[in-house]
Amino acid sequence: NQEIQLVKRPEAMPTEEHIRMTNTEMPEPGKNEVLLKTVYVSVDPYMRGRMSSAKSYVEPFALNKAISGGVIAQVVESNAESLQPGDVVTGTLPWAKYSTAPAETLRKVNPELGPVTTSLGVLGMPGLTAYFGLTDIGNPKAGETVVVSAAAGAVGSIVVQIAKIYGAHVVGIAGSEEKTRYLTEELGADKAINYKTDNLPEALIESCPDGVDVYFDNVGGEVSDAVYPLLNDHARIPQCGSIATYNDPNAQGPRLQMHIVKSRALIKGFIVGDYQPRFKEGFTKLAEWVGNGKLTYKETIKTGFDQIPEAFFGLFTGENIGKQLVKTAEI
Ligand code: NDP
Repeated sequence: NQEIQLVKRPEAMPTEEHIRMTNTEMPEPGKNEVLLKTVYVSVDPYMRGRMSSAKSYVEPFALNKAISGGVIAQVVESNAESLQPGDVVTGTLPWAKYSTAPAETLRKVNPELGPVTTSLGVLGMPGLTAYFGLTDIGNPKAGETVVVSAAAGAVGSIVVQIAKIYGAHVVGIAGSEEKTRYLTEELGADKAINYKTDNLPEALIESCPDGVDVYFDNVGGEVSDAVYPLLNDHARIPQCGSIATYNDPNAQGPRLQMHIVKSRALIKGFIVGDYQPRFKEGFTKLAEWVGNGKLTYKETIKTGFDQIPEAFFGLFTGENIGKQLVKTAEI
């Protein structure tokens, strides 16, 4: 067996020096456990937080242990009644070719809802994050203006489309021409801005003639500094993430306070897990929209177990459109 371990905590951008691929014993399933073959691995920005030892809403990864996260796996051997060899499941599992887990910690993937990969994207954690953050905190009304940062990513691309379903004027911000084209031509965004090449403050004024009512923020930093002056009275800001600051040891807090006071905007941080009691509603709604074509999705998939670190690092340079996954085996 092989696994990928964290061996050193990064101060800034994570690189190969912080990670080690190592050979390990083949694990054996205990009572009520299954032996799993890893098929798809999800790489997610929040994992950067777990690489540091700072206190957060999830435990830091242990050093010299396998990194873990969202995985799709196939049951090879089962000591549990609820799962049979061949079943495809998803759960939080190690970055390892094979692993074991108690059956009750795994969710069976329903292949009727879409390709299995959707359980790590539009019909998984990123989809739920988009749905609850936008509908519960952003609460967009028809005709309001919704701005989304990291709009072509896993969460952002779903937020853009749900905001359109709600009838909003939607402006997406992303880091390449390919992504801005994807936003307007495929996802239905009214405007898309390339924050790397456009003059962001000017482009925002042009794209948001009626100001900003909802700012779904995945990014923080300078992108957000450019959005805040446009906040309308009583705007809402679902604060989903701040990826622009994850690798910056000198990151300052957001420079937004006076704009919040003047606009009486509501800014609210949230963790998708807060909505656990409503996950069923989220899955049902997302699956309905995927089923009737109102919601589409893109995946960027690398192939090979050894590609997992590269895929993860690429999140911070914007290599991915939609959900970044790594395929490690055939089903
Ligand atoms: P994405 O698929 O959006 O991938 C990350 C994207 O962020 C990159 O493609 C890149 O796109 C953009 N990015 C990277 N660095 C910067 C930077 N310095 N400035 C601006 N943009 C940058 O990831 P996810 O959809 O999985 O996650 C998006 C955000 O949501 C993250 O902040 C994440 O931590 C957060 N999150 C929060 C959750 C919660 O429960 N609160 C749950 C899930 C995610 P580009 O080319 O446009 O720069």
